[in-house]
Amino acid sequence: MQKLGELLISVAVAGLASQWVIDGAASAQDFPPYPEQKPLAAERQGAIAKGREDPPNGGRPEINSADEMRAASGYSAPGAVRYATLAAAAADGKWGVTTYYRCKNTPGGTAINAPYPAPLEVFDGVYSIGDHANNIWAIKTSEGIILLDALGSRENAEAFIVGNMMRLGLDPKDIKIIIVSHNHDDHTGGVEYLKDLTGARLGMTKIDWDAATAEGAMPAKADGDFYIVDGQKITLGDRTLTAVFTPGHTPGTISLLFPVTWKGQDHIATYAGGQGSPNELAELVQFRTSLDHLAVFNDLMQSDVVLSNHTVGDDGLTKVAAMTADPSVNPYIVGREAVIGYHEMWRACLSADIEQMIHDGATGDPTALAAREGEPH
Ligand SMILES: [Zn+2]
Repeated sequence: MQKLGELLISVAVAGLASQWVIDGAASAQDFPPYPEQKPLAAERQGAIAKGREDPPNGGRPEINSADEMRAASGYSAPGAVRYATLAAAAADGKWGVTTYYRCKNTPGGTAINAPYPAPLEVFDGVYSIGDHANNIWAIKTSEGIILLDALGSRENAEAFIVGNMMRLGLDPKDIKIIIVSHNHDDHTGGVEYLKDLTGARLGMTKIDWDAATAEGAMPAKADGDFYIVDGQKITLGDRTLTAVFTPGHTPGTISLLFPVTWKGQDHIATYAGGQGSPNELAELVQFRTSLDHLAVFNDLMQSDVVLSNHTVGDDGLTKVAAMTADPSVNPYIVGREAVIGYHEMWRACLSADIEQMIHDGATGDPTALAAREGEPH
């Protein structure tokens, strides 16, 4: 505890928010507090199925079978119905929340009514430190920490990223690299604050970085920062991440594969950098092409773990809760068959959206799919 107290003092001296500066042993109330939760309107996350009202998902709807897909998704194009059925079969009940979210013709976005998840070491030196909607991953290396994404604001970066690292006994100033998956404000909003705090190098694709800079969402590329390109190896100390260019969600979305270990076993994790389906046909097609590209890397590197930057991308709330309750089982390790099923589910959902959009255009009868106000985060 002495060490943690010293850490807190050293961070406080570095200029962090004064309301949680402490001068003694750390306890929960000494960390940056979590923000108060604002309940969502029920329609924002879809109707809650009976029996699924409870945390950890806060009643987020799930699709775990073809019948549930038919009932929830409402596709009318024959091709879309077929693809959606294939998606439900491919997911095989393993990602109920994600399957609901993936196939676009269901209400709700990444926002969710759910308690904040506990910060957790999910693999050796790989930590889940995000909020209830956005997963944030901190990857410890022999030369510091790689952070994946930065949440949507200084306040959230401080409360969750900095606060949760301290709750886990990590020093936020050890962040040496921040990789930003794509240019959406729920991933970029905390970048400037964290860069100022840690001096970390930033990495992002040029196309999304240029767009973010133009919008004032991110600091301009500085000395030491780097652009990320397809196939790039990003190394810090004893860890190397492989970047895969996966445009579609945004023009410059990046995904990553990297080795992890747990209980003495080696695994390969695939981290998907963009989640929600875009609203334009060309972008949906590009996204599907990107997923196929990512699947090539999954196959070559034999990925057996699915990670996401949103809790609706890997059923993260369920997994964190399960692992917190029973640390002897790691639900993120799903195996090769399930990784393939996950890819097929995602691809089939994009295909269903493509089918429905073309059908709507051809029949002159646009459904809620094209007109729907998406929340593509
Ligand atoms: Zn996004």
